[in-house]
Amino acid sequence: MSKGVFYDSVCAYFDRAAKHSKYDAGTLKQVKNCNAIYRMQFPVRADDGSIRVVEAFRAEHSYHRLPTKGGIRFSRMVSLNETVALAALMTYKCALVGVPFGGAKGGVKISPRSESEGFRERVTRRYTAELIRKNFIGPDIDVPAPDYGTGEQEMGWIVDTYKNIRMNEPNIYACVTGKPLGMQGIPGRTQATGQGVYFGLRSAMESTDVPKLLGLEPGLSGKRVILQGLGKVGFHAVKHLQNDGGALIVGISEQEGGIYNPDGLDVVALLAHRQETGSILDFPGAKNVDRAEVMEMPCEILIPAALENQITAENAPRIQAKIVAEAANGPVDQAGDAILRERGILVLPDLFLNAGGVTVSYFEWLKNRAGVSFDRMISRHEELNNREMVSAMETLTGQKLPESQRSHLVNGPDELRLVIAALEQTMTRSYNQIHDFWLQRELPDLRTAAFLMAIERVAESYTHHGIFP
Ligand code: NAD
Repeated sequence: MSKGVFYDSVCAYFDRAAKHSKYDAGTLKQVKNCNAIYRMQFPVRADDGSIRVVEAFRAEHSYHRLPTKGGIRFSRMVSLNETVALAALMTYKCALVGVPFGGAKGGVKISPRSESEGFRERVTRRYTAELIRKNFIGPDIDVPAPDYGTGEQEMGWIVDTYKNIRMNEPNIYACVTGKPLGMQGIPGRTQATGQGVYFGLRSAMESTDVPKLLGLEPGLSGKRVILQGLGKVGFHAVKHLQNDGGALIVGISEQEGGIYNPDGLDVVALLAHRQETGSILDFPGAKNVDRAEVMEMPCEILIPAALENQITAENAPRIQAKIVAEAANGPVDQAGDAILRERGILVLPDLFLNAGGVTVSYFEWLKNRAGVSFDRMISRHEELNNREMVSAMETLTGQKLPESQRSHLVNGPDELRLVIAALEQTMTRSYNQIHDFWLQRELPDLRTAAFLMAIERVAESYTHHGIFP
């Protein structure tokens, strides 16, 4: 697979949507192009004492809103091209769901799963120092987050490095999101992207026209799902689809191979099995299958949640799903996309479907800047009113409420509940907006609608705010 394909696909999707835009060519070019790129190579001591030179990138795609925001990917496949494509998607994603950031992305060319924790820590800290040196990180400048191959642990090392170098700055903890809870993270961030995928799919399957269009019964209950990539995003997506939506997870594809069970797989038990044995294979009740083949087996919903360019002209003709739900960034390339469209398969596009992560990252960033958690922001006044009301109810009925119920009524919802409620509302509202825009503007598909909405929002903010010199 050529390295340029991902960025080419993002540009092709952009151009296809931009054709329907009222904005002039110059403005559209500014919306499309990447504002700044930092390519670095730095030395890191390996575990055996030798020196290794690590290549890494940070791309800041758009400054129409600041700070810029986007995850950091650790993978041996990382390239400049990929990083810019991912940064561009971040710009469109944020605009689409109304998160006021420009897009950015980072990439570090190491294979995280085969490196020691010590090496990953040294790489992360050095990468952060490089970003600080060139002003490519900061609460008001550019705020990284987790992506493929990184998580809470790496975000913790980043904030710790930043804190020690920039100790006199205000709002230090807002320099990165996806941090551990004990380091001013926010509850719900780990599952946010996957849970957002669930909310997005639920909205589509509960709409009046989409299930009919696909010849399916409305709702998620009983729908067969196949997942590629049982990672942070994929696991939480299928867990919610299974537990909250009543869907049947029939197949999983991972690096070590695939498994399929037409009666459904318990994904929580499967994760435990993988942690215990190091593999999803040989899971009780399931058949081992080739990892590419399992994606082509019978199901209603296929969720690619691993990497880009997984559905191409080569395998798109054999996909049996009615919906391809892009939990990963760029999993369907432009040739694959054309075939899926021709075959009447609905694609829920990445820039909408995996926006739950950046949405909750926004809440974390706001919380870090306010220096107070959201549940504490609920006014003391409200709490006193609630307490009076509950006491009055208890006096009138002569009964005491159970302590957990009393505390919930008096103190209001906890932070996790607030975060999930806001995530659900963002994903549901965004789906409805894209869906209506698709129909109103008579656009060919949901991806074009999502891109055009995002492009016009970014273009509008450039022209309205007189940003051009
Ligand atoms: P992750 O590293 O937690 O998980 C990815 C999983 O995919 C791993 O288990 C890996 O083994 C598996 N995988 C890799 N190549 C595969 C292949 N060829 N076949 C089958 N499985 C394969 O990464 P993640 O954070 O879950 O990210 C996955 C995708 O979601 C990426 O495209 C990322 O950019 C996107 N995304 C992530 C977030 C986030 O919050 N983490 C937010 C938005 C989008």
